[in-house]
Amino acid sequence: MQDYIISGTAADGKLRVFMADTTDMVREASRVHNLTAIASVALGRTLTAAALMSKTLKGEKDIITIQVKGSGPIEGIVVVADSKSNVRGYVYNPQVDNIFTDEGRLDIASAVGKPGYLNIIKDLGLKEPYVGYVNLVSGEIAEDLSCYFYYSEQIPTIVSLGVQVDSDESIINSGGFFIQVMPDADEGIIDDLEKRIKTIPPVSELLKNEKAEDILNVILEGLSPKVTEMGQCKYLCNCSRDRMEAGLVSLGKDEINDIINEQHHAELVCHFCNEKYQFTEQDLKDIVERL
Ligand code: ZN
Repeated sequence: MQDYIISGTAADGKLRVFMADTTDMVREASRVHNLTAIASVALGRTLTAAALMSKTLKGEKDIITIQVKGSGPIEGIVVVADSKSNVRGYVYNPQVDNIFTDEGRLDIASAVGKPGYLNIIKDLGLKEPYVGYVNLVSGEIAEDLSCYFYYSEQIPTIVSLGVQVDSDESIINSGGFFIQVMPDADEGIIDDLEKRIKTIPPVSELLKNEKAEDILNVILEGLSPKVTEMGQCKYLCNCSRDRMEAGLVSLGKDEINDIINEQHHAELVCHFCNEKYQFTEQDLKDIVERL
């Protein structure tokens, strides 16, 4: 089954909800970047968050970027999503060693590491992008995002993100949800929901046997949840030779001339999909000529 996101409401529109199954997306990211288990989980949670956030974009060309910069061995995470829920991302250190908690679970918080910060950049086609910033409160990603929503967007949000990895480091399941409290709702509703969510298994566990919409019905039981939209999401990089060339152009004449004189060619690698683009000495000379 393909990855998908459902959007909906509950409690007569006082709650806005998004839920995604991102299993294929995280498998693809893990394959493309040859990630260790802990890197798969950290990147997978962030990819899932970006997929969910893409549903809040209104313009067709809007783009959202999540950047996490920590002091742990993963060093950083970058994820980009567009309004069609095409998501791509990478971690600075894809081969980071797995770290475990005392209970034997992958210790994402330590791999990301505090102090650090989480940035949300929304390019909404305006002159300046919108940038939101919070210090990491846990490094587990979901809690940090919840903090971002509360302080930067003033929207109380329950964020749940989960990636399950098998002993051979393959991805079993990945998914997550946001439940957002709209301004006219009683904030007490979120405390009740948080209590309820603590009593049910993690979202990645639930996705093994149930569809996202069924899980939503369990979480929001008694609050009349309604699905308003269902759409696909996937891992997709939009790099091209033209974009890579634009990157070279932005270096400026002097720097490109240095590359011509010292290396006689340039190989550019896309961070998001590891595709390699070759520029020969002649290609580089042509670029300089056009500048
Ligand atoms: Zn690419």
